[in-house]
Amino acid sequence: MIFNNVDFDTYFKKYPDVNGYFGKYGGCYIKPELQKAMEEITDAYFTIAKSTRFISELRRIRREFQGRPTPISHLERLSDYIGNGVQLYVKREDLNHTGAHKLNHCMGEALLAKYMGKKKLIAETGAGQHGVALATAAAYFGLECDIYMGSVDIKKQAPNVARMKILGANVVEVTHGLQTLKEAVDAAFDAYANEYHDAIYCIGSVLGPHPFPMMVRDFQMVVGIEAREQFVGMTGELPDAVVACVGGGSNAAGMFAGFLNDPVDIYGVEPLGRGPKLGDHAASLKYGTEGIMHGFNSIMLKDENGEPAPVYSVASGLDYPSSGPEHAFLHTLGRVKYDVVDDNETIDAFYKLARLEGIIPAIESAHAVAYGMKLAKEMGRGHILINLSGRGDKDMDYVIEHYGIPEIKR
Ligand SMILES: *Cc1c(COP(=O)(O)O)cnc(C)c1O
Repeated sequence: MIFNNVDFDTYFKKYPDVNGYFGKYGGCYIKPELQKAMEEITDAYFTIAKSTRFISELRRIRREFQGRPTPISHLERLSDYIGNGVQLYVKREDLNHTGAHKLNHCMGEALLAKYMGKKKLIAETGAGQHGVALATAAAYFGLECDIYMGSVDIKKQAPNVARMKILGANVVEVTHGLQTLKEAVDAAFDAYANEYHDAIYCIGSVLGPHPFPMMVRDFQMVVGIEAREQFVGMTGELPDAVVACVGGGSNAAGMFAGFLNDPVDIYGVEPLGRGPKLGDHAASLKYGTEGIMHGFNSIMLKDENGEPAPVYSVASGLDYPSSGPEHAFLHTLGRVKYDVVDDNETIDAFYKLARLEGIIPAIESAHAVAYGMKLAKEMGRGHILINLSGRGDKDMDYVIEHYGIPEIKR
């Protein structure tokens, strides 16, 4: 399929290019001493990770450890509730081991580290979801794991800190600055610059310098490939629309990859938070401009000094001031439409999915469900497939405390 002069038959061979660019977005903007480390990972990825041995090992792990393939569920009662004939479906990444899609790329990154002879995995974490997934992968492969985390986040995310420690990871407290994600990123990168002979840095989304946006997408592609085959098997046709939430953009990149070359409308959903004022949302593609941060060129939200702006979302996994370079590219191209839902629409969808379908979604994923419900009302007919990126156990206390429990209507 050709769209805006891009031939999607050969898309994955051409994007990113050898320097890690999706159009003008992407690249590798880091300290010279780490350039070499990135090149080493890129080379290893193209030799090791494309070998049949690596691929069959990863397939075995996905089946035997992660519980893949994850199913697709038809949301019959939610579809009836909307009531115009549109049928909603969800790809159940909440049923992937550890309860979200993140383990898909963490297992890939850790397997690559093992084949490269590295002994340690290094990463930062904000809400702790990436830290838990990576600590799980490290335990599985017998690797050491250092997770950098700001003191403020350590206090806020006690259950995830406990999970990481139980799994044997070393949680390194970052005590300077605002003591949150940004400082943790800097501390983790500094540590990596000292330890890259024995360690590998594992980025938690389709972000950072090349080759990470490509590698993480490729490891997540299993979601879209499975979903396409399952959906056609269930319904005999392709969905009319595919929807996923976008923080950094890894679950969306994986899901979309399965459908880019099909006549399917694709929607990425960003968090509008409390509203369109800078600081109240994290809708970087909708409101941002081109810029470089954390090692790559993309579309980002900037403050008055051109630095990454403070962002907010009810979903801590979505509050990042940029999105992966591939999303910036697909947005500019128009192949994927990026739109927003706010906190209230999200919490409404959170409870609708719980009460009509028996699935408690992650608040991140509830953004995609909320948008799917809006889209269903507009479309009037057809099938919508939503990526349910994770389960909501981690969010229950927060939702009850801040939004209460709606009355039961009989
Ligand atoms: C981290 C997270 C996200 C956001 O990350 P992406 O890279 O945009 O996918 C979405 N959903 C869940 C459940 C997460 O844990």
